[in-house]
Amino acid sequence: MPLRFHNTLTQQVEPFQPADGKTVRMYTCGPTVYDFAHIGNFRTFIFYDLLRRWLRARGFALNHVMNITDVDDKIIRNAMAANQTLEQYTAPFTEAFFEDMRTLRVETAERVVKATEHIPQMVELIRCLGERGFTYQSDGSVYFRIAKFPGYGKLSHRDFGGERSGARVDGDTYEKDDARDFALWKAPKAGEPAWDSAVGRGRPGWHIECSAMAIEYLGHTLDIHAGGVDLVFPHHENEIAQSEACTSHPFARFWIHSEFLLVDGQKMSKSLGNFHTLRDILGRGYAPESVRYLLASVPYRKGLNFTFDGLKSANTAIERLRNFQFRLTGTHFPEGVDPQLLERTEAAGRQFSEAMDDDLNTAEALAAVFEFIRDANTAMDGGAFRRGNVEPAKRLLEHFDAVFEVLQTTVADTALPDADVAQLVAERTQAKKSRDFARADRIREELTLAGILLEDTKEGVRWKRK
Ligand code: AMP
Ligand code: ZN
Repeated sequence: MPLRFHNTLTQQVEPFQPADGKTVRMYTCGPTVYDFAHIGNFRTFIFYDLLRRWLRARGFALNHVMNITDVDDKIIRNAMAANQTLEQYTAPFTEAFFEDMRTLRVETAERVVKATEHIPQMVELIRCLGERGFTYQSDGSVYFRIAKFPGYGKLSHRDFGGERSGARVDGDTYEKDDARDFALWKAPKAGEPAWDSAVGRGRPGWHIECSAMAIEYLGHTLDIHAGGVDLVFPHHENEIAQSEACTSHPFARFWIHSEFLLVDGQKMSKSLGNFHTLRDILGRGYAPESVRYLLASVPYRKGLNFTFDGLKSANTAIERLRNFQFRLTGTHFPEGVDPQLLERTEAAGRQFSEAMDDDLNTAEALAAVFEFIRDANTAMDGGAFRRGNVEPAKRLLEHFDAVFEVLQTTVADTALPDADVAQLVAERTQAKKSRDFARADRIREELTLAGILLEDTKEGVRWKRK
């Protein structure tokens, strides 16, 4: 079966290929930098990351654009309250966002673009819409007339049928039942930032920024547009209306939306106050890999309920993977190869890939790896595992980790560097040789306190971080 994704536009799981067969042109909605992102937001960013990595594993090149929303209603409100410019207010949150992304090993897009640096492109798009009769002005703001665009509602699968025609909404976000003409360009208000432009003095609405930047860098038809499920309406519905009304081309071939991270069945969100930032969680002693694993382990179209027990289980799962890797690289296996086990390894690789091809079914993909590990451990216990089985098993782990990327331990800045660990291990071996067991024990204790585990094997001492 080919690679396939669920397309919100058609509500079907469909085979996916980029239009040119080579490079995936993809746009994903990025953060609004008005505060620290919470791990609910990061579920969506990790979903983008899995999507990127799997598209690459399938041989496609990527041209991925993600925006930073650095001007919107909330940012303006907060910046004004703090008596700061937009730039002063958003810079530290933007920096924190990328730091968290790195901590979670989330790849960044080929191009990250800021809304405030693309005002001319937005104005040009609004001008194009005006020329085609899709806009009108009221009190210095420019609105999109949804009754003029017959496809309005095709993404969220609602027939708005011209209801509330002529009614307007100024806010950037609003409820599904509230389909109204939305602001493309907002009239200036006292004290608010504003730009002079061909459509008057003012500032852009939130929706126009994504259309303008996507078209600027990726052309009129994208292969994939992705985002969290809360963006289907109104944000993505409005993006389609603005883009297609101007270009007369379908805006995106695939619309892919990820479900929420939940807390007790409710969306994790700033407004409900039920959120955790990555910083909170790391402060409680959890590893970033555990957060990454947890958020990646449930297929993106299923809600995922966040609990600390879930994080602990993620940690246990990673430990199992690492212990297996440790055993695989550290054991002296007998010569030869077990053909049955070889076939078992290849089957696990196929199952992993088939699961990922199936709309990124990460739960099935993980199951394929863990079932293999169970069988391989049994084979090792029984002596069936041979030296020739090591490389294929390692390749399976690499294939897995190219997507999940949790095997490598995050080494804290304060951790003992590898060279120092090696030095202490050598000193301990020397102490044992000269029968200074007290000193050897002291070194082992010191290493244990630094989070280093030692294993004495026939081939010598091996060490790993806890
Ligand atoms: P924002 O910074 O509010 O614009 O949100 C950034 C991204 O995070 C958007 O794509 C949202 O859909 C997504 N998001 C917000 N809350 C959650 C949540 N609880 N679970 C998953 N994704 C979320
Ligand atoms: Zn967007």
